[in-house]
Amino acid sequence: MRYRYRLEERRERKNALIKLIRRLAIFALILLLFYTLFLFFGGRPQLSQESLKELSFIASEKSYQLSFSKPVKELKLYLLDGEEKREIYKIQFPEPQKSISLTLKAKELGLKDGKANLILEAYAGPLSKKSYQFEALVDTIPPKLSIVDYTSYPLLGGTGAVKAKLEEEAQVYILHGDYKYPLYSLGNGYYYGLFPIRLDVDKDANFYLLAVDRVGNTSRQSLSLNVKQFKFKEDNININMDFINKAIYPLLGKEGEGLSPVEAFKRVNEVWRSRDVRKIEEVAKNSDSRFFWDGAFLQLPNSKVFATYGDIRHYYYEGQKISESRHMGFDFASIERSPIPASNSGVVVFTGELGIYGNTVIIDHGMGLMSLYAHLSEISVKEGQFVKKGEIIGKTGKTGFALGDHLHFGILIHGYEVNPLEWLDPKWIRNNVLRVLNSQ
Ligand SMILES: [Zn+2]
Repeated sequence: MRYRYRLEERRERKNALIKLIRRLAIFALILLLFYTLFLFFGGRPQLSQESLKELSFIASEKSYQLSFSKPVKELKLYLLDGEEKREIYKIQFPEPQKSISLTLKAKELGLKDGKANLILEAYAGPLSKKSYQFEALVDTIPPKLSIVDYTSYPLLGGTGAVKAKLEEEAQVYILHGDYKYPLYSLGNGYYYGLFPIRLDVDKDANFYLLAVDRVGNTSRQSLSLNVKQFKFKEDNININMDFINKAIYPLLGKEGEGLSPVEAFKRVNEVWRSRDVRKIEEVAKNSDSRFFWDGAFLQLPNSKVFATYGDIRHYYYEGQKISESRHMGFDFASIERSPIPASNSGVVVFTGELGIYGNTVIIDHGMGLMSLYAHLSEISVKEGQFVKKGEIIGKTGKTGFALGDHLHFGILIHGYEVNPLEWLDPKWIRNNVLRVLNSQ
């Protein structure tokens, strides 16, 4: 009997041990599952595809904006040289961050021009490290940029043109103040671009050409432009209650409820105006890289000029100055509801209501050059439609912020309204835009 008891005791102990092992195994499995889930659901800091692509180009000096899926505490960069792995860069963040800006210099990293095998290690915390191995192209030679020709005496508020040549593929921009406009490739290393001589940039601000190669090396060249100053017309305009009732409140609709006459006027002349200008800039971003236009732009037939470019308007209400604005186009008036021809050939990129501009059509003529037609009573073209110079696009009217039936005609250079008068003049186009375009 004793023997039997012992046997059973032993069997029970054995069973208990098996149970314990089984439990431990299940526990370990659960842990493993949680760890896998933890890694799978963003436990490790993932680098975005774009960031990784950006990192695979290293220039003599280049700034990067890296974005990770979770905040990172430390970054390390290694160079793989055969079997050897050498640390070449390390940065730590007291405050872990998801979006990291850093500047890398090929020389400081000890990298030579050509291909390099790199490893990036991102550390986000214990159990949370991720490394990426990738091949980078190291290039420290700045793009060779030469200026071919440019309009050396542009008009304040007018249009400038520039042509450049590059030895390698690059993106080229013209810089003025805080603004930056692209040049377009003409092939064979030539680049061409139009730019506005903005009224809101300090008159001593220089113009620069900037070239950025595919790796990120840059070259700069300054242009010695002599901007012809221009004396703009100034008008004092008296606003009365009758005008605000007839033109401003109806334009504002519900937005005008509860606003005093002065507030309502300012809402349209200031808030709406800047909003509408931004909208135009947005539309203008999608310009074609080819020119569609040919020869001088057309003025509204049989029309008179009612307002010119750059006119400064001071508005008074009951003897007090309440607001001011600048007229950024030409106003042409003919008989009411006159048919409007497309000023030149291009693609219609905007049709519809545009705040103070009322019913508006914008035509893209390519390379950042567009024409704008505002206050229309009728629009007869559609977005995406190609129109030929002279083709009717709509009828004049007084929609938006307009006193009477007229056409507000604007020329946009990268979304900024410049003096359209130059574009109506075939001689100016020949001596500036085309001369620079055809220079070798
Ligand atoms: Zn106007």
